[in-house]
Amino acid sequence: MTQNQELTKAQKYNFDKLQKKLRRNTGQAIADFNMIEDGDRIMVCLSGGKDSYTMLEMLSSLQRSAPVSFELIAVNLDQKQPGFPEHILPEYLESLGVPYKIVNEDTYSIVKEKVPEGKTTCSLCSRLRRGILYRTAKELGATKIALGHHRDDMLETLFLNMFYGGKMKGMPPKLVSDNGEHVVIRPLAYCREKDIERYTEMKAFPIIPCNLCGSQPNLQRQVIKEMLRDWDKRYPGRIETMFTAMQNVVPSHLADFSLFDFKSIDKDSGAINGGDIAFDKEDLPSSPVSGDGTSEFDPGEKLDILQVN
Ligand code: SF4
Repeated sequence: MTQNQELTKAQKYNFDKLQKKLRRNTGQAIADFNMIEDGDRIMVCLSGGKDSYTMLEMLSSLQRSAPVSFELIAVNLDQKQPGFPEHILPEYLESLGVPYKIVNEDTYSIVKEKVPEGKTTCSLCSRLRRGILYRTAKELGATKIALGHHRDDMLETLFLNMFYGGKMKGMPPKLVSDNGEHVVIRPLAYCREKDIERYTEMKAFPIIPCNLCGSQPNLQRQVIKEMLRDWDKRYPGRIETMFTAMQNVVPSHLADFSLFDFKSIDKDSGAINGGDIAFDKEDLPSSPVSGDGTSEFDPGEKLDILQVN
């Protein structure tokens, strides 16, 4: 067997492994948060970025084997940004055989007209986009709106809110939209961005760049992203542990008196959630805590070949 053939075999092995992992993570999040129910019509928001392509692929794959029956309809909002390659998504979706709708709304011109030169355009732009997507979901009779945010987006949001907003607030895997009319789900909530990046590279999705509007990326988010990436390199497993912490909240050991009734505590209350050992030395596991709360952490399935980073 030639070197090339061996590599192809190894690539295939790694691709299958990665695809299974992403599918398993997506299925687990859907189950844990009851994201999809029998008869759902899910509007899958497709921007043309790596996350939304991966989400659509995972949902399509799960749709074929799920015990419940649900419909998918991919929706792309063409905001008329200069240079937007209109043909890419229709061609891709037709090749997949997924029903889709392209919504054409020139929010780009509105934003350019309303926002003074040099000011950030993202907040008006995303407000307009949100309204259009809600309206589209209603027109399509969608019961759920699926967004492609992943685990790292959720962690970044948590840190953004802690650092800049004074809140311990992340990004929920499932929520009711701000207008109270739609259930929004994030099926990639358990998927690592690094896995999505690798998968995107292997699949060679026809990525549409996200900077066509000419706007600068959110600098604060960029700083947090770099901080998390740096931690991930220097302390493997830390990201996984922090995400586990988001699923393991102990209100009695924080300081939000609206979440926990501190006022009623008296000596008859007994030790709550292990009491307090503030005078003792912390006895923390030497390796990061895994998702099931034990310290036996699996640092992730290493893909030796086709490593993106
Ligand atoms: S980066 Fe551009 S397209 Fe994205 S929200 Fe900001 S203004 Fe809108």
